[in-house]
Amino acid sequence: MAYTITDRCIQCHQCEFVCPVGAITKDEQQRYQIDAGRCNDCVGYHSVPQCWAACPTNIGCISNLATLPPSISAKPANDYWEKWFVTYNKMVSELKTQQISEYWREWFDQYSQALSQQLQTPTSVGVNQ
Ligand code: SF4
Ligand code: SF4
Repeated sequence: MAYTITDRCIQCHQCEFVCPVGAITKDEQQRYQIDAGRCNDCVGYHSVPQCWAACPTNIGCISNLATLPPSISAKPANDYWEKWFVTYNKMVSELKTQQISEYWREWFDQYSQALSQQLQTPTSVGVNQ
């Protein structure tokens, strides 16, 4: 098997849908895995492994860097994508903890109160008429 899914997987499901041979499934712990008997490195379907291409972590699917083109495997693990992955996880965790509905409820209350006050206040044009 050329590719395996590592613990960097964030369960985004992308690879499951793009694998041309249906080699990607979930194990008993609901973690994605690649069936070594099915995976053929996408040979005959695509020029690059689709699980690797689709994975937003960029390295989530790959355990054997030696199988990658030299231009990619030469990159250090803590390069741009490593930093991108940290930022991505931070953003996702912040979004999950935000009380979006409460924010919009407060915004709407303040907006509607301000609008109501404005409608009840006679304008200079209305006072003179
Ligand atoms: S390399 Fe291709 S065939 Fe193998 S698991 Fe990834 S998408 Fe499927
Ligand atoms: S595409 Fe990458 S992050 Fe998404 S489920 Fe597959 S291995 Fe995990």
